[in-house]
Amino acid sequence: MIKANDPTLKSWIEVDENCDFPIQNLPFGIFKTQSSSPRVGVAIGDQVLDLAVLNKLGYLNNLKIDNSVFINQYLNDLMALGKPTCSSLRQRISDLLNENSAELRDNKEAREKALQYISNVQMLMPVRVGDYTDFYSSIDHATNVGTMFRDPANALLPNWKHLPVGYHGRASSIIISGTNFHRPKGQTKSADAEVPVFGPCKSLDFELEVAFVIGKPTSLGESVSTADADDYIFGLALFNDWSARDIQTWEYVPLGPFLAKNFASTVSPWIVTLEALEPFRTAGYTQEPKVLPYLEYAGDKNIDIKLEVSIQPENSTETAICHSNYKFMYWTMEQQLAHHTVNGCNINIGDMMASGTISGPTPNSFGSMLELSWKGTKPLKLNDGRERKFINDNDTVIMRGYCKKDKVRIGFGEARGKVLPAL
Ligand code: CA
Repeated sequence: MIKANDPTLKSWIEVDENCDFPIQNLPFGIFKTQSSSPRVGVAIGDQVLDLAVLNKLGYLNNLKIDNSVFINQYLNDLMALGKPTCSSLRQRISDLLNENSAELRDNKEAREKALQYISNVQMLMPVRVGDYTDFYSSIDHATNVGTMFRDPANALLPNWKHLPVGYHGRASSIIISGTNFHRPKGQTKSADAEVPVFGPCKSLDFELEVAFVIGKPTSLGESVSTADADDYIFGLALFNDWSARDIQTWEYVPLGPFLAKNFASTVSPWIVTLEALEPFRTAGYTQEPKVLPYLEYAGDKNIDIKLEVSIQPENSTETAICHSNYKFMYWTMEQQLAHHTVNGCNINIGDMMASGTISGPTPNSFGSMLELSWKGTKPLKLNDGRERKFINDNDTVIMRGYCKKDKVRIGFGEARGKVLPAL
């Protein structure tokens, strides 16, 4: 048995070097085909391994997992088995896909039953999200927004470097990549107008984020320390926290985001396990002033995930407009979770916690149109000659992300969404 993260591992399934899903990744998702009900799958190359079939054929017998965990609409029941079991499952799948393992490789009938091309299946929401929390943890993003809307000399509010600011979002409107939605409508008021008007949002934006999924619950009153936080984090996905800037500007005082945020948030279909991402940990920002003891943490807790956003207008080509990185986060996931639970707030399996817009220090790394076009004052030029200040009707926004080291690429696939005209 070779450890599932070993960079020398190879699968008997061909995996292109630019593919997001080599044998070292093995992310979990939910898929269905025309003839099958929703089930748990693992991505390998351009294929998906059907764990319900694999288990039924006896290949996972050592794990003693009931097949209802795999013939399932969500990953919640799988995550509920706990990290040691999920880790053993990942290791078993790695062993089965290893180029030197004949068990599945040489059983043509089993192989054909258990493997499908991703292009032939429909990916579904991977988790049943109970609660969704959105943080605001990129220092460059918070500084940019503070500079634009308040005071460049005091861009960060006094609390920002003392706690990971966040708000409770809405789980019901989180949608799987590929789901189109209509431009939201709402109240807006321009600065020089006396009264608000009602109509379609005029400055629709994306927010480049990474979300982590809770795989272990706590009880009311319990707190999670930064040292223990990783036990509660099952994995990560790409997250587009679509935002209606003009609606937000008018509504957010004094309680924060509401209808500007809860009309759609797009999540990528594969949950990349924290375990697969461990080799890509990296040091974060030096936190100055010093944080309170419950927010202190040890070791490298940021993760080097290269992130990219593209816009594709209807009947045109993609233009990459942003290159950022998850390592630019000021507050780590471990600190976010410690802060979220420090008051005894309980968390549940399937809760989703998004990073907040991830901007880097350079203008091409800003994670929203608000920043990229600097409030609409600097329109972006697309490859086809068109310009964008915000997102137009029938534009598709595509987010991608991957880690790379020792020739191993651990990718996330895509979070893709198209904006249809307002109803
Ligand atoms: Ca956000």
